[in-house]
Amino acid sequence: MVVVCLDGSADEYLDAALARGRMPNLHRLSVEGYRGMARGAMPSFTNVNNSSIITGAPPSVHGIGGNFFYDRTSSQEVMMNSSRFLRCETLLAAASRAGRRIGVVTAKEKLRDILSAGLDFVGESGPISFSSEKAREAKLATHGWDNAETLVGAVTPAIYSGEASLYVLRAGVAMLRQGRADLLYLSTTDFIQHKYAPDTSGALDFYEGIDQELGHLLALGAVLGITADHGMNAKQNSDGTPKVVYVESQLTEHFGSGFRVILPITDPYVVHHGALGSFAVVHLPESFSDPSRVAAFLTDLPGVTEVHAQAHAARLFELPVDRLGDFVVLSNRDTVLGRTPQHHDLTAIEGGLRSHGGRYEEMVPFLRSERLNPVYAQRATGDVRNFDIFEFTMNGGLESVLK
Ligand SMILES: [Zn+2]
Repeated sequence: MVVVCLDGSADEYLDAALARGRMPNLHRLSVEGYRGMARGAMPSFTNVNNSSIITGAPPSVHGIGGNFFYDRTSSQEVMMNSSRFLRCETLLAAASRAGRRIGVVTAKEKLRDILSAGLDFVGESGPISFSSEKAREAKLATHGWDNAETLVGAVTPAIYSGEASLYVLRAGVAMLRQGRADLLYLSTTDFIQHKYAPDTSGALDFYEGIDQELGHLLALGAVLGITADHGMNAKQNSDGTPKVVYVESQLTEHFGSGFRVILPITDPYVVHHGALGSFAVVHLPESFSDPSRVAAFLTDLPGVTEVHAQAHAARLFELPVDRLGDFVVLSNRDTVLGRTPQHHDLTAIEGGLRSHGGRYEEMVPFLRSERLNPVYAQRATGDVRNFDIFEFTMNGGLESVLK
């Protein structure tokens, strides 16, 4: 059983590559198995959705509602890319305890800690978990393998490359081939999708490479489940400059100082997106008298599509309410939300801005390499979530019905 999260893979990427005959394995898989769409977790960010996929639960349950949140008790902006922020166990840890041999590979080291939560690295017979970013530095006691380059048979790739993602899948192929794991989670990175639109050669070449590795996994007898954490859209003006609403600047100008805008897309990998996405959290100044005026003002900003007060936002998006601000703001397909112009280094995204975080990146591909049984085929017509992928992959086959 192999679950693959193709980071940033809006369905348009698969469509473009399939239409040009660049993904023959995915084509066969779509015909013989199941290809549909599923709704991701909001905000449509990487860590949020990866946490959901490995727990099978929304952020209100697992606790990771973004890369950042503002902790009111300590008055600090806290980075959440650590497993200590997880509030429930992962499917992988439970399956490992139940005797499955777990293999986890992710591109970015920032995600590895969350994906490895609860895994007991007991040496050569135990689970394996590493990132392609730090493959060389993997250790038996903490990753289940000494130097993963010797497992994959290739050197550690650069993180800002398509290779970083292909390496993840190659590692999965190597683990299956060597009989080293039987339940795998392979999670790529979205460097290519941030950089290239679906119908460009940069994207098409990448998906052809992905398809080859999917073919190897299938040839080794894997049942494959494939989904994405979020989609990806161009967020720019017609002249190629980023289309940004600077929310904190706007609020300060109209209501005075003291507002704090948290952009939960913020992470150390700024080349991807310059910390600009379509989802922002607003904290009002202490004892601010008239929140409803702020909500009305935000709602009227061009490019803003939704403004929700804390409790409603938590319910609507299934987010942990204690890690949320006073308002949640979302922007439309081609607009991103920023803090202040000074806060963002736009030189990092001079080639154009493609990003995510909002509603328009919420629906993602959802595939299973073998046919769904009638129960899951019926469920697939409803409100399927990308974090149902482990369940669909493991229980959704015809053999599950016959038992
Ligand atoms: Zn992502």
